[in-house]
Amino acid sequence: MPASGDQSLLGTGTRSSVAPANILLGRYELGRLLGCGASAKVYLARNLRSGQSVAIKCFRKVSIANGGLANHIKREICILRRLRHPRIVRLHEVLASRSKIYFVLELVKGGELFACVASRGRLPENLCRRYFHQLIAAVGYCHSRGIFHRDLKLENLLLDENGEIKVSDFGLSAVPEQIRGDGLFHTLCGTPAYVAPEILAKKGYRAAAVDLWSCGVILFVLVAGYLPFNDPNLMAMYRKIYRGEYRCPKWVSPELKFLISRLLDTNPESRITVDEILLDPWFRKGLDEEKCASLARFCEEPMAVEENKTSMAEAINAEDRPLNAFDIIGFSSGVDLSGLFGAPAERERFISDVSPEGIFRRVEESGRNDGFVVRRKGEKGCAGVTVHGQNGNLVVAVEVYRLAGGLNVVEVQRGRAAVGGGRWAGEFWNLEGEGSP
Ligand code: ADP
Ligand code: MG
Repeated sequence: MPASGDQSLLGTGTRSSVAPANILLGRYELGRLLGCGASAKVYLARNLRSGQSVAIKCFRKVSIANGGLANHIKREICILRRLRHPRIVRLHEVLASRSKIYFVLELVKGGELFACVASRGRLPENLCRRYFHQLIAAVGYCHSRGIFHRDLKLENLLLDENGEIKVSDFGLSAVPEQIRGDGLFHTLCGTPAYVAPEILAKKGYRAAAVDLWSCGVILFVLVAGYLPFNDPNLMAMYRKIYRGEYRCPKWVSPELKFLISRLLDTNPESRITVDEILLDPWFRKGLDEEKCASLARFCEEPMAVEENKTSMAEAINAEDRPLNAFDIIGFSSGVDLSGLFGAPAERERFISDVSPEGIFRRVEESGRNDGFVVRRKGEKGCAGVTVHGQNGNLVVAVEVYRLAGGLNVVEVQRGRAAVGGGRWAGEFWNLEGEGSP
């Protein structure tokens, strides 16, 4: 008998009746709700093996089934996996159950910078400068890789336990492939008060300049304690943005006023760039050459994972390593993730924490008990067992793909001999207590 929690071939958390409701896929203990975003809920969680605390962002199936959001999630995964920077929230892994998809994220413990400013009011210029350094380090890193956030705002800047910024929520980011032939982005995005004037003009825009406009709004809010462009009437607010009508409060230093004016320049062509910000006198105050160079070191880390695993076969043949959830999402066809979350009756896929050997033995035992012929097959990174009737017709084929961290994806394909009825047509593998490995 395997260790406790392994009794169900389905793995804890997916369909086992014994699994506690707050244990996710046998791996994470879910805790309190940390925050609610537009697209997902974020929970505190603990890795049961390592004890590490993490944040788990949970997307529901109904949202995933929606074509637009499937796109949105795929994009977020694709972008987050390419980012490794101390000022950007790390994505540890992606897990999926039948009904939900979970992003396991680095836990950022200090809350939103927004809440900090909302409770304390405006911040001293030196503190604004420190946050701005960190923001520009993260933004410069992203831009140097052709990745743009496009929804930079205080709510998406979290604070860690050292009071340093971590940029989160890349849900609206765009990858370079989204750029049309004219080199400009066309998606209307962002949060009204942070949106750049060229987006309102709907002529297409350069995403780097749009991010820097939002950085200007953020910097203004930090030092002023309120938004530069605000009006209860949305159209009136957009008019102010479009015309660049804002007033810096009198306590802002002339150097900072100048930098804000360069960031909130309504002309994206003349708006300040990251490289120019690094030379700005207010930005550089108190920074020696070495510190400035370390902020500007945007490209030091190599890509962690290579891209474009489009099929399961490719993923397996590329290297002999366990698949991870990126691969699973990758081999769900196109942008439609429904293959992963709601397989047709003849084919099912689920996640289990039982070893491949345990799964195969159980299938073999059941097959032999019913008088069927059982065959094993093995490939790199994947192994399987097939069950046939005496006439050779396929009853069921079970393949197991190793995931990272002791989890496996079990793919069950039923042949015509099984679809007719009997336990092979149903959940034959859910045999708790019967012939357990
Ligand atoms: P959405 O994309 O739906 O807007 P977010 O990623 O912004 O969702 O998350 C919603 C909220 O959850 C955040 O504003 C924050 O309060 C909290 N949150 C998100 N990620 C983390 C994290 N890694 N650590 C701690 N809290 C987080
Ligand atoms: Mg958000």
